[in-house]
Amino acid sequence: MKHIFTLLLLLTLCVSANYADDQVDADVYVCTGPKSQCYHRTDKCRGLNDCTSEVKQISKSEAETLGRRKCNICYKD
Ligand SMILES: [Zn+2]
Repeated sequence: MKHIFTLLLLLTLCVSANYADDQVDADVYVCTGPKSQCYHRTDKCRGLNDCTSEVKQISKSEAETLGRRKCNICYKD
C-alpha cells in the first residue's frame, strides 16, 4: 500500500513538472544539427525553422549539460 502511494506521488510530480513552464527540468526543444547552440521553449519557435536535422525534446537540464543557451526568440520576456 505504501508503494502505491509513493508511485502516485511520483506520477503527480512528473505531470506537474511537464506543465510548469519555468520548472528547472521542464522539457525544451533542441535542433540536433551541429550549428545549433540554443534550446527552445516550444517546437514552433521560428529559431527552429532553419534546423536541417531532427528537432528533439529533452529536459532543460540535459540541454544545459550539452552547453545550450536559452533561445533569444522564445525566451524573450
Ligand atoms: Zn526559440
